[in-house]
Amino acid sequence: MAKKDGKKRGSKPAGKRGSKPGGKSAGKSGGTSVPSVSDLLRVPAGTVDLAGLRTKPGPGPKDEAAARNEIASIAERLSELQERLYAQGRAGGSRRLLLVCQGMDTSGKGGVMRHVVGLMDPQGCAITAFKAPTKEELAHDFLWRIRLRLPGPGMVGVFDRSHYEDVLVVRVRELAPRPVVSRRYATINRFEQRLVDSGTTVVKVMLHLSAAEQRRRLLDRLDDPSKHWKYNPRDVDERALWQPYREAYEIALEKCNTPAAPWYVVPSDAKWYRDWAITRLLVEHLEAMDLGWPAATFDVAAERARVESS
Ligand code: AMP
Ligand code: MG
Repeated sequence: MAKKDGKKRGSKPAGKRGSKPGGKSAGKSGGTSVPSVSDLLRVPAGTVDLAGLRTKPGPGPKDEAAARNEIASIAERLSELQERLYAQGRAGGSRRLLLVCQGMDTSGKGGVMRHVVGLMDPQGCAITAFKAPTKEELAHDFLWRIRLRLPGPGMVGVFDRSHYEDVLVVRVRELAPRPVVSRRYATINRFEQRLVDSGTTVVKVMLHLSAAEQRRRLLDRLDDPSKHWKYNPRDVDERALWQPYREAYEIALEKCNTPAAPWYVVPSDAKWYRDWAITRLLVEHLEAMDLGWPAATFDVAAERARVESS
């Protein structure tokens, strides 16, 4: 007898812990020859040299049209996986996903929100943009405001900037004593390990932009009145600190690149490649969670009979 389960909505046991994302599952998520974007973009263990990591498009779609096509073709998969996660959360499951986005000004964090996170059901997503801390936030430890914004069960939490600012801008601008900053890497690793242990898949992406591309984007914002709202004169002050930021990123990427919560460096000079890569990363991580639909908590046949006779 033919199975009733469609290929899309086939059920798997809920609540099963997933494996690491990898080549195994990548075939389901798109049409390019890249085996796994997780493998491709994952930062190798050890010292990080950002100059050695590409900012320009790499393996994968060759141009914008191909990338947008592929994004469109995997959007449905992404959306279904997110719905499974959300459904599990509603049914008492504990799993969730946290996407952490870091990058220099103009690197495209806002674009990722619109073009990638925007592919998912807004009911299941919670985006937080972290700005300079308020007085109240500063009165607490640096993870306080982060904890308040962690995704609940079934949710996809998205951080536009994050606790990493406390080892990036805070380090570069010397907003806290160096020994305090130095202790934070281990604190972050313990914090993220606990998140993972309690059912959160943590996906950390650094949007890797070249200085030349940032310059182009800043000029573009100045030349187009519809982009003036995005331009912040202070961005030019931060740009002047490109090298210290580079170093701060390299240290954070090295020290907080744990097996539980690894870093991915996403080439971001081309917006289409950035969007394609992060869409794939999300699909791969959600697939590795092996999410099934929650089982009915009622007698389906009996309910069907009741509805039919109603
Ligand atoms: P934007 O993301 O461009 O809207 O800018 C937000 C600003 O808030 C950036 O300049 C960040 O560096 C700054 N910011 C975010 N988190 C922190 C933090 N923990 N300490 C100091 N500044 C921060
Ligand atoms: Mg900015």
